[in-house]
Amino acid sequence: MPETHAGQKSKSEQLDFVNYFVSYGYLYHQKDMLQDQGRMDGYRNAILMNARSFAGKVVLDVGTGSGILAIWAAKAGAKKVYAVEATSMSQHARRLVAQNNLQDVVVVLEGYMEKLEIPEKVDIIVSEWMGYFLLREAMLDSVLYARDTYLKPGGAMYPSHAQIIMAPLCANLHTQRAGEYADELGAWADFSEYMRASNGVEIGGLAEYYDREQFEYLLQTAHWCQLSQAEIIGDEFNLCEMDVHDVTVPQLSDVRCDFRSEIVAETELTAFGGWFDVQFKGSAAAPAGTPVPLSTAPGAPTHWAQQVFLVHPPLSVMEGDVVEGSVRLCRQKVNHRLLYVQVRFTLLRGGAPVEPERTCNYRID
Ligand code: SAH
Repeated sequence: MPETHAGQKSKSEQLDFVNYFVSYGYLYHQKDMLQDQGRMDGYRNAILMNARSFAGKVVLDVGTGSGILAIWAAKAGAKKVYAVEATSMSQHARRLVAQNNLQDVVVVLEGYMEKLEIPEKVDIIVSEWMGYFLLREAMLDSVLYARDTYLKPGGAMYPSHAQIIMAPLCANLHTQRAGEYADELGAWADFSEYMRASNGVEIGGLAEYYDREQFEYLLQTAHWCQLSQAEIIGDEFNLCEMDVHDVTVPQLSDVRCDFRSEIVAETELTAFGGWFDVQFKGSAAAPAGTPVPLSTAPGAPTHWAQQVFLVHPPLSVMEGDVVEGSVRLCRQKVNHRLLYVQVRFTLLRGGAPVEPERTCNYRID
């Protein structure tokens, strides 16, 4: 198990390390990220196509992992790059920095961003902090700590802006998950019969609890999915838009939007989809000469893919119907790196509700 040398950890930090950081200590996980071409193209272009913004600058890479962003920042001409990594992956990062002959520019530091001392203020902070649905993992908190502690006034965040985008779907995944749910309920009936016949014990009284458990897992947990454009059946809407230069942790911890989405086909509403975009535009005082986008929308091949929030039972919709409602995103109580999403919505036809408002709750685990 990778160890950090950033001093003693509290109980909650130890738990966080086991639950969250530990996988980042393995090369196979870093390799997965390094093989995500969409992600790599976005960051490589953002840094190398803006070499003029990096030349002669002091850069901080929050969560350097394998060291890739720090290495690109150095290649773009940075004067000094501080590359911070919580796990022992820092040792591999140091090896890669040396192998690429950048050891005079890149300083790799092992420890938590929040616990280390960076010896100077920086001009640019680069970080790949995005989790599923943008905010899963809550790593942006650490980046904002770094911003508030070390970024010079007017300094630039890479990425600089982010949005969470949602849309109503007729998702293929619904058929699959609803089928699995029905199969599980049937399997429980067979299991009850086996328990009675072979073991002489009645377990029928647990059926409703198994039903609830399977419903929560299969139909109320957000699912990772590679959606196609064809599954989107109405207008997209933004759950949030943020400027990474001034967003705060309380804002990230309780995100809300009202939405109105017009349906464009006669079909079934079986889910809502969610994904994110980020942009590298620099700061107002230090704008990027070449702004670069990185999208995880349906059709964009990144490891984030999209999140699907199933609507069960589905709703028949007509072209011109309107889905109106609100979305709320907050953090799970036990593990702040995981999320809850609540979607409340009403389907309107000719301006009148087709059925009472629905409230759907989901976990992003
Ligand atoms: N920058 C690399 C790795 C991104 S994954 C790349 O783009 O390929 C995020 C990395 O940040 C992980 O290696 C994780 O261990 C590290 N990390 C997350 N929170 C951190 C924190 N608070 N302090 C230091 N490292 C952190």
